[in-house]
Amino acid sequence: MPFDSETIYPVRGQMITTQTRPPIFRRIVFGAGGYVVTRPDGRVLCGSTMERVGFQRGITFGGMADVIEKATRIAPDLRQAAIESHWSSFRPGTPDGLPLVGRTHIDGLFLASGHYRNGILLAPLTAELIVEAMTGESESREARALSPRRFEEPSV
Ligand SMILES: Cc1cc2nc3c(=O)[nH]c(=O)nc-3n(C[C@H](O)[C@H](O)[C@H](O)COP(=O)(O)OP(=O)(O)OC[C@H]3O[C@@H](n4cnc5c(N)ncnc54)[C@H](O)[C@@H]3O)c2cc1C
Repeated sequence: MPFDSETIYPVRGQMITTQTRPPIFRRIVFGAGGYVVTRPDGRVLCGSTMERVGFQRGITFGGMADVIEKATRIAPDLRQAAIESHWSSFRPGTPDGLPLVGRTHIDGLFLASGHYRNGILLAPLTAELIVEAMTGESESREARALSPRRFEEPSV
């Protein structure tokens, strides 16, 4: 097998949302190892944990305590806010922290995965690189850096 469960692995993230009126911030604020995102409708997203627990969904006391601690250090006023919802999901992590985008050594198999915390942010670049790989255009510097083949064993 060219890849195993250590090439791309789940990293659980727990999140909390609340509402504040007026909005607590106008921009995303990073700090204290976490972040607080204020949506225009007043919804506030607080995140997040980074846990190697396999594909185990769920919310834990420890995770919530961690998110609350980070969020209230960024914005102490959140101590009075009511928790509206909470959830967890998985980020696809990789050993070197970079995604795997492009052709593999298996003919016709392309990967666009392993984006860890930046899958949304990197969607436009990923689309460009996949097109590049599928149309056989000459490889850019980014394509070489993110090539899945960096994790593949040389075929014998
Ligand atoms: C709490 C949290 C906050 C985040 N915040 C940000 C952010 O602010 N900005 C940002 O850029 N990124 C953020 N991310 C990361 C982003 O969500 C991921 O990088 C992105 O979702 C990865 O995209 P993907 O398509 O590779 O995987 P996924 O989005 O996980 O999609 C994989 C899909 O495959 C499906 N699937 C899985 N197994 C099977 C199977 N066996 N058969 C069929 N279907 C299957 C799943 O149901 C899923 O729909 C965050 C992630 C988390 C968890």
